[in-house]
Amino acid sequence: MEPSFIPAKGYAAFSASTPLAPYAFQRRVPRDHDVVIQIKFSGICHSDIHTVRSEWGEANYPVVPGHEIAGIVQAVGPKVTRYKVGDTVGVGCFVDSCRECSSCKSDLNNYCLNGFTGTYNSLERDGKTPTQGGYSDVIVVDQNYVLRIPPSLPLDKAAPLLCAGITLYSPLKHWGAGPGKTVGIIGLGGLGHMGVKIAKAMGARVVVFSHSAKKQKDALEMGADHFIDTSVKDALVPWQGQMDLIVNTVSAEINMNDYFECLKLDATLVAVGLPEKPLTFHPFPLVLMRRRFAGSVIGSIQETQEMLDFCAAHAITPEIELIAPREVNVAYDRVLKSDVRYRFVMDMGRL
Ligand code: NAP
Ligand code: ZN
Ligand code: ZN
Repeated sequence: MEPSFIPAKGYAAFSASTPLAPYAFQRRVPRDHDVVIQIKFSGICHSDIHTVRSEWGEANYPVVPGHEIAGIVQAVGPKVTRYKVGDTVGVGCFVDSCRECSSCKSDLNNYCLNGFTGTYNSLERDGKTPTQGGYSDVIVVDQNYVLRIPPSLPLDKAAPLLCAGITLYSPLKHWGAGPGKTVGIIGLGGLGHMGVKIAKAMGARVVVFSHSAKKQKDALEMGADHFIDTSVKDALVPWQGQMDLIVNTVSAEINMNDYFECLKLDATLVAVGLPEKPLTFHPFPLVLMRRRFAGSVIGSIQETQEMLDFCAAHAITPEIELIAPREVNVAYDRVLKSDVRYRFVMDMGRL
């Protein structure tokens, strides 16, 4: 008899206030268009922490987090055409979308008008089956939501590209980071450090705004042209009116006014960080220079593939600390202290 599920194991959160703990669960047997992926590496995104601590609303426990997944195709459904056993692949922040709305039909499925299906703490399109993420040994995903990892990218370093990489690539491209442009990145964490590397590869001049002075040397080594220690009084004053684009990756609520002042006429500040509490700002600095405050969420499947190929072509990889899954709770504490250098990646082979 055919098995009715694939056994999976991993780490899950069982409440907002308890540490993640080992968890055994089930994945669906592959449907016609499904790819079964043996997960090799799983990145730790700050969104995982916001979610499992119910900072964005009550999570649906148990939650197996993880949406920076890199692995190897282990099996495919009978109608899969895009992947074969042995391929190196990735899965990012969503595993399905409605496929019918105007966004889905124009390669913007990250903006699915009916809501994409998150890789974890979400429901499949049936509206009742919970999704579980990458802090595990195996995942089953429709081939249309799987990414191809180019062979020149090491799998452990490819994992963070699936969220941190695309989340910066998309707005940098959309708002025209490139030669002759000065781009500011606020926060040098997992997302921010990818922003520095990608903006630099796009040809922009890059300015890092960080509240951790000890990160200066690293920022410059990553390619930043300037490092601004925002804990110093009036540190932003010399940068008023200088920036063509700023991306805010900070996971906590910060005052935006001083950053708006750094934008040129008509320039844009893009929010990608999603703190628990609202940001504060006054409209004056926006109004006076017709500046824009915008937002951006990850990128489409098509754009994520483009980003992976871009990173391979420019030899861009994140700085990672490779850890065993049992170290996940210690890693969370360090992320919360802005002490990640610059992305934790779990070696799922050590589960
Ligand atoms: P992270 O690695 O923790 O980096 C966040 C950085 O923000 C820290 O390293 C720190 O940089 C800065 N920071 C933290 N607390 C601060 C504070 N109190 N004041 C000033 N700066 C502070 O987190 P991440 O994984 O990059 O994620 C960043 C945010 O983006 C999270 O809110 C996450 O949920 C969100 N996110 C959004 C998307 C999207 O599609 N929009 C995708 C992924 C993640 P410095 O030490 O350099 O100051
Ligand atoms: Zn993420
Ligand atoms: Zn849709």
